[in-house]
Amino acid sequence: MHEFSIVQGIVGIALESARKHNAGHIFAVEVEVGQASGVEKEAMEFAWEAAGKGTILEGARLVLKVIPLQVACRNCLTPYQPAELFDPCPVCGEVNPEVVAGKELRVVAIEV
Ligand SMILES: [Zn+2]
Repeated sequence: MHEFSIVQGIVGIALESARKHNAGHIFAVEVEVGQASGVEKEAMEFAWEAAGKGTILEGARLVLKVIPLQVACRNCLTPYQPAELFDPCPVCGEVNPEVVAGKELRVVAIEV
């Protein structure tokens, strides 16, 4: 389950930011998660609780903002929102998507 290492990265960013702001506690961390980032929300939340134990992150909320998958067809350049990454283009039927959005995984806000 790679969510644990991802969460450890997020925890590291949050703690670093808290140190910079001399914050004694972190209340919430907001993370943008692309629909196609391969990360499971529940696994993230589970890992989050474990990773925060004993730190100033304990009890902090992990706010996951899911970014929908958005692709553009490389063949006819039509942008579309597939349910799955390899759904064919609705215009030309080709399966040749370029991911425009939906692979994000980044900390966007930290509430201290
Ligand atoms: Zn197309």
